[in-house]
Amino acid sequence: MVKPGEVLVQGERIVEVGTSVKHPAGAEVLDLGDRTLLPGLIDAHIHLFLHPGAEDLQTVQESVPQRTIMATLAARDDLMAGFTAERDMGTEGAGSADTAIRNAIDEGRIPGPRLRISGNAVNILGGHEDAIGYNPEQHVLPNADYANNADELVAVMRRQSKEGADFVKIYETGADSVRDGKFSTVFQYTEAQLEAAVKEAARVGRHVAVHATGEPGTLFAARAGVASIDHAYQLGEETMRLMKEKQIFAVPTFAISEYFAEHAATAEQAAHERQMLDLHVQEFRNQIAAGVPMAVGSDVGPFPHGTQAREFVLMVKYGMPPLAVLQADLVNGAKLLGWDGQIGGLEAGYFADVIAVPGDPLQDIGVLQNVGFVMKGGVVYKK
Ligand SMILES: [Zn+2]
Repeated sequence: MVKPGEVLVQGERIVEVGTSVKHPAGAEVLDLGDRTLLPGLIDAHIHLFLHPGAEDLQTVQESVPQRTIMATLAARDDLMAGFTAERDMGTEGAGSADTAIRNAIDEGRIPGPRLRISGNAVNILGGHEDAIGYNPEQHVLPNADYANNADELVAVMRRQSKEGADFVKIYETGADSVRDGKFSTVFQYTEAQLEAAVKEAARVGRHVAVHATGEPGTLFAARAGVASIDHAYQLGEETMRLMKEKQIFAVPTFAISEYFAEHAATAEQAAHERQMLDLHVQEFRNQIAAGVPMAVGSDVGPFPHGTQAREFVLMVKYGMPPLAVLQADLVNGAKLLGWDGQIGGLEAGYFADVIAVPGDPLQDIGVLQNVGFVMKGGVVYKK
């Protein structure tokens, strides 16, 4: 996986990898010195349409065109940090504006990672992302699309698909609370409703990803057969067993939790965030021991785009060996994003998504925060 010698690229694909690669006539040789070559990084949980600052207010105060311009800059920042593929987990009220971003990137008009996008996330009336706490007379719009039953879920998914979505993101739990050290979270959709969503997604070869922090929502999601359970603070025994059996990925998103704990508005809020993170860290160790498959997603957006390699550092800090974290990112990430056999490896036939870092990430995972060379689809964006 690392230090393959040389990589021969033609067009957007890798042609050959190894120590005996012959240089075709006219080939341009890039000597990256003793840096370590790696496949481009994958972030399975991002928000191009969010930036640091009050999340609820930015979606109310900023227009969709304004947010779309910001999203193009976010995409560039993520790419320059070495992330060549990402899953955008909801535009938070910007609807299908991410379709335009994905397509502009694919057409080579703007720099950015290859993207899987969902448009808006989906939510119940009065649910986790339903602009709660405003004057009702102001009719503040939710950050997600409403669906209140299985039929509405299917209808919303068909509309989003028409508008360009690659998968569906569903808010399955929230709000979260901790009382006397015990975590609890409200579920939003029943198992049968999630099953209807999974079936509809499968009909068109797509997947369902859920924001789900704990039981019983996480169990409903695992039984329904979603592709990933994002955040996954607390998973019950049966949920973990099903996730292992069905290869449903947990995406822990530690980087956002750490950022919120360190940037909370009040001491009380900081203590709450810290408590949630501590609880998640303990549960994460159980999840690893139970063999729950992991993917790497940072939830970047509420914290600055381009800084999310911090997620690798935290996953190692909280108990996963560096090699396992890299495999979770590259191997599992490629599967989760539906590019299995195309990204996440330096192999003949794969997209030429190649980065270089100083030092050995297996010795110090932190070097992933210092990506000095970025190639995506055979195009060099940074060297
Ligand atoms: Zn998110």
